[in-house]
Amino acid sequence: MRPGQIGAGMVAVLAAMALGGPALAQAPGAATPAPLPPAADQALGRAILKQMVEINSTHAFGSTTAAKAVADRMIGAGFAPGDVQVLIPPGHPDKGNVVVRLRGHGKAAPILYIGHLDVVEARREDWTYDPFVLTEKDGWFYGRGTIDMKGPDAAVMTSLIRLKREGFVPDRDIVAAFTADEEAGGDFSGIDWLLKAHRDLIDAALVMNPDDGGGEAGMKSGRKLYVGVQTSEKIYVTYQIEATDKGGHSSRPTAGNPIYRLSRALTRIESHPFPVDLTATTKAYFRGRAALESGQVKADMLDAGSPSPSPGAIARLASQVETDILMRTTCVATMIDGGQGESALPQRARAVIQCRVIPGEPVEDVKKALAAMIDDPAVTISVFTPPTPSPESPPSPEVIGAVAGVATVMWPGVVILPIMSAGASDSAFTRSAGIPSYGVDGIFDDVDDERAHGRDERIGVTAFSEELEFTYRLMKALAGGG
Ligand SMILES: [Zn+2]
Repeated sequence: MRPGQIGAGMVAVLAAMALGGPALAQAPGAATPAPLPPAADQALGRAILKQMVEINSTHAFGSTTAAKAVADRMIGAGFAPGDVQVLIPPGHPDKGNVVVRLRGHGKAAPILYIGHLDVVEARREDWTYDPFVLTEKDGWFYGRGTIDMKGPDAAVMTSLIRLKREGFVPDRDIVAAFTADEEAGGDFSGIDWLLKAHRDLIDAALVMNPDDGGGEAGMKSGRKLYVGVQTSEKIYVTYQIEATDKGGHSSRPTAGNPIYRLSRALTRIESHPFPVDLTATTKAYFRGRAALESGQVKADMLDAGSPSPSPGAIARLASQVETDILMRTTCVATMIDGGQGESALPQRARAVIQCRVIPGEPVEDVKKALAAMIDDPAVTISVFTPPTPSPESPPSPEVIGAVAGVATVMWPGVVILPIMSAGASDSAFTRSAGIPSYGVDGIFDDVDDERAHGRDERIGVTAFSEELEFTYRLMKALAGGG
């Protein structure tokens, strides 16, 4: 999960809250305990989680120590040294990555799991417990990265070791890449580098990314509600708009004043929303989400998810921010500056416009749309932060069906929600490289208690054991074989 990201689940839940009291009228997620792995695998998972949390892999320390620890553990568990590779980019000794391969029958192209090894900073004085010691307390594991994403990393490692020990030979290779630099301060993305420098080692037909903020499992007041499958992310691109003039003395106002020009431009941007654009994911999201809603909201979501949505339903959903942002590209003014002196006509005024583009819409068209809205050739538009284009991965029955098959057996009644995130994850790189990528994670977080990147980050002890079992079952289902 990157800084500033709104977790997909948060979007869903904020939507539920925004859309009124009777939301979540049905109560999926019965109280029957979910199946858990054998005790030995639960112990293994905890030991790996402890080891990973206690290796400080914040930006200052890097990820090489963690990558080597993963390699040692996998080789110790019986993986051939040739199937476990630590890869350190030249000139970046702290940005180590590790790629592990469980060999299959080669009946299909491999499936690739990706997980970042780095975590965001955490200061001891801000936390109740030492963030770099795994602390078990009252049914929780506390520690930096427990959610984002050493918990999910540990689940992938534990599942691979369990499959290896059981002698399971999948139909296709299962590859796992644990990588550097996804988080704040990231300056050398491990997955981006691996795709460019070692594509052969990680090439795959399918990527699974259990990062928090992509797919995630949501519960509210102890009720398990949904398992998200993140298929897409809005594309982040930022522009600067600027007006200039020769200036002069403030006693002689002129029509070319850049501050007035800029303010007219900003008002036009505000009053021209981008058109509604429902992707396959958003339609499937609304159809799934409807099961957790009631009344008019439920009807509107079913309508929006149908082949030809009605304008009324779209307008009602668009009246709430959290559903509106799922349906259209947005651009918003985030910074402004201008003028150079109290008694001088301004020579320059500029604003930063931050856009989140629906995947599939050409990013170049956003600039054209802004120019058309502004309708003033004297106001220039330039790229401030360029995009990483990342197409939607189709909400395919292969993946959604496998997730549903595993999740609804483990947690009867949960809804499977295809999700487009408002923020970005490492899946942007794999999607951009042409590999359909899906964010799925089975750690149920309380939607009202989001702690990724925050103080006292934690996961439930039982939720973690369930994640171990979920990851193992899903890995088998996707890879096939026996
Ligand atoms: Zn993350």
